[in-house]
Amino acid sequence: MHVTVEDAERSYLAVIKGEPPKAEELPRPTECPRCRTLNLPEAVYCLKCGTPLKLEEMVEEYKQPALLQELVERLHRLEEELRLLRK
Ligand SMILES: [Zn+2]
Repeated sequence: MHVTVEDAERSYLAVIKGEPPKAEELPRPTECPRCRTLNLPEAVYCLKCGTPLKLEEMVEEYKQPALLQELVERLHRLEEELRLLRK
């Protein structure tokens, strides 16, 4: 599925205004599994609580190296935190 910036912006505006986006023309907002916040369809993390929203899709999405880079950096930070917790 190809999502343009314009699609994402329209969907984001709909979320802000509280309007349900039209499924046939807008990508669906991603609901956070933890806090139920509606996020941008392409959001990687929940805007509110930071929960990763679509790890599986990110791994498959070669066209977005920036997102993958962000994921890798985030995992490295988590590893570092775990290491500190184990001490
Ligand atoms: Zn959340």
